[in-house]
Amino acid sequence: MSEAKKKPAGSKAKKSTKKTTGRSPRKSPPKKGTSFNFYWIYGIVGFLLLASILYNSGGSGGKISYKEFKEFVEMQYVDKVISRGIVCEVYFNEDGKNSASDGEVNNPPGFISESLFRSPDKWFNIPSGEIYREEIKNLSDVSNFDYEEEPVNTWGKEMFSWIFFLVIMVVVWMFIMRRMSGGATGGNQIFNIGKSRAKVMEKGESTNVTFEDVAGVDEAKEELEEIVDFLMNPGKYTKLGAKIPTGALLVGPPGTGKTLLAKAVAGEANVPFFSLSGSDFVEMFVGVGASRVRDLFKQAKEKSPAIIFIDEIDAIGRARGKNANFSSNDERENTLNQLLTEMDGFGTNSGVIILAATNRADVLDKALMRAGRFDRQIIVDMPDVNERKAIFKVHLHSLKLDKTVDVEKLSNQTPGFSGADIANVCNEAALFAARSNKKTVSHKDFDEAIDRIVGGLEKRSKVITPEEKKTIAFHEAGHAIVSWLLEFASPLVKVSIVPRGQSLGAAWYMPHERKITTAEQIFHEMCAALGGRAAEQVVFGKISTGALSDLEKVTRQASAMVTVYGLNEKIGNISYYDSSGNSNFTKPYSEATAKIIDEEVSAVIEKAYNTAKDILNSNRDKLDALASELLKHEVIYKEDVEKILGPRPGAASDADSEHAPNPESE
Ligand code: ADP
Ligand code: MG
Ligand code: ZN
Repeated sequence: MSEAKKKPAGSKAKKSTKKTTGRSPRKSPPKKGTSFNFYWIYGIVGFLLLASILYNSGGSGGKISYKEFKEFVEMQYVDKVISRGIVCEVYFNEDGKNSASDGEVNNPPGFISESLFRSPDKWFNIPSGEIYREEIKNLSDVSNFDYEEEPVNTWGKEMFSWIFFLVIMVVVWMFIMRRMSGGATGGNQIFNIGKSRAKVMEKGESTNVTFEDVAGVDEAKEELEEIVDFLMNPGKYTKLGAKIPTGALLVGPPGTGKTLLAKAVAGEANVPFFSLSGSDFVEMFVGVGASRVRDLFKQAKEKSPAIIFIDEIDAIGRARGKNANFSSNDERENTLNQLLTEMDGFGTNSGVIILAATNRADVLDKALMRAGRFDRQIIVDMPDVNERKAIFKVHLHSLKLDKTVDVEKLSNQTPGFSGADIANVCNEAALFAARSNKKTVSHKDFDEAIDRIVGGLEKRSKVITPEEKKTIAFHEAGHAIVSWLLEFASPLVKVSIVPRGQSLGAAWYMPHERKITTAEQIFHEMCAALGGRAAEQVVFGKISTGALSDLEKVTRQASAMVTVYGLNEKIGNISYYDSSGNSNFTKPYSEATAKIIDEEVSAVIEKAYNTAKDILNSNRDKLDALASELLKHEVIYKEDVEKILGPRPGAASDADSEHAPNPESE
């Protein structure tokens, strides 16, 4: 600090400045006004820390002894002395400054503002006793310098440490509160725990998502457009005596575009849009959820017409009172009750429409679904071929494609893919292309991406012994031959013995997108699924563990035939399936029936296994040929299989019904 260079202070004006600033720390505690913000606290803490450093900086620089002081007085160097408690500040005149100031002068110990606004040239501690004070006074008369006494400012020091302590406490408290309220957003959390956490999109603001961006869910879109219309022109409906619906529930499997649809509504509807997720209501404090619901509806009504969107509503809307013994979550139930009450409301036409999305409509509380609350359920289902095509078109839009990319084929290749999967395929394809430094994305990249998403990443490096590889080849060839020769089995697309993810090899089929399946069709599928194990038996005379997933699938199909679909003669037209999902611990059939079921299930499976074995035994030459082909190329396609086995029986019907390959991995 070069304060020693400042000109000697002491004028009255300076003094008054000092006084006011001396009090300034008292004003600094946080103002709980509108501009209150966490950064203020950080700032204040920083400032106080800095101040405390300054405050403590009184070192020994510039300190002199009483004797030295007297020498300076004798030499006529001293202009003024200010005594403050036991500290005496010495100010030199011109002579003194020129000849006696040397080196750095630290501020004498004392209150911060004084050291900031005055800078003595030297200082010393008065030896104890009033005599010395008197002596200095006398000296000042004799040697003609000013002498002032100042009261000691101890209150400042006390204040300072108290404020410092308080601020630290407040900061710690706020930090804890913020943690408890899950503070992800904003600085005003602590005072607003019971307030709704909805993200509000004001009228006119948009999300960049429009109905154009959501493809293939035309019915859902229509319904939502209608709901938007309710809000915009309520008169049209109320004139006829109709009531505006309170809510609509978007139901469908994950990744089918429910959230996206809601975003599109926010983008298209020209009304305030409150968006939040079911879990936003849940808090560790009791009663918070309910009060948040209340606040949300209050806000929405103030801004009505408005839309409230609650994503993943099952987080709070789960049926009440179930499993009460295991986890009674009163807080969640209170929240749900509040939601039910608010949705019923008194003002029916208050102009607030509630949208909600879930993929667990089955667990929702019945009261939530009754007419008058979520009167409308909008089903957002998995896309079919044409819808997939539309979704592909949306997502291909932003990619640089070459001419080989065929949207038609892509949508055929991806049955069972949701909108999110398709978005993922498009992204993966672009990544594949980028990895090989291509300028554009080709259809091959998409093939890779689809394979990868279906079966996991290719692992060519996985160590497989030649023996194992041979077993896998015959196993997959067995699947291929049985499925090829049985009329109703899914048509084969390709067979691979490249390990992928968990599986060592795979046969890919185009599954039929059937709505009704006959017993014969299921039986043929089962034969094809057992073809792998049958081939191992036929060729090597022993079977392996490699057919686990085949067996699992077959067992499931067989027991479904017997117990669910009523396709078994002995059991008859009975289904033990309970669609309400209330699976009890007791079986709905007697011990005797259980025995018959077990027998029938294993009889069906054995029959399928023997059929598969028979087919392979009578086509042994073809099995060998196909397996060696597989060992050579690792991947073979439908055309290669056709060369060996000849055209498929009843193949005419498959020719165009190509849907998509589905790996039957093991
Ligand atoms: P969820 O139904 O689980 O809420 P999302 O709406 O979050 O699914 O969808 C996730 C992503 O998948 C979207 O961001 C979008 O990229 C893509 N997507 C899903 N469905 C569609 C669709 N019908 N049209 C276009 N993209 C879709
Ligand atoms: Mg979602
Ligand atoms: Zn298999």
